[in-house]
Amino acid sequence: MKLPPRTSRTISASSSIAGAVIGGIGALANVLAMVIIGVVLLIGGIIFHIITYRCPHCGCFLDRSRGEYCPHCGEKLDS
Ligand SMILES: [Zn+2]
Repeated sequence: MKLPPRTSRTISASSSIAGAVIGGIGALANVLAMVIIGVVLLIGGIIFHIITYRCPHCGCFLDRSRGEYCPHCGEKLDS
């Protein structure tokens, strides 16, 4: 799946944060279903990040890189 790095980062961060919040509220409220949904969103966000957060030019995983250029091939990361 090819997504612009910034879009991929936004989706995975949103999913992980939503998962942490829902899971946290579920844990405090003792609602198992919310905890499970939270954990699934959190892990899903991480997996989505690993799969889609890649350089559109060389395909290398960008890890935590937030720069404008790919640390592997040096090409500009468009939006
Ligand atoms: Zn690259």
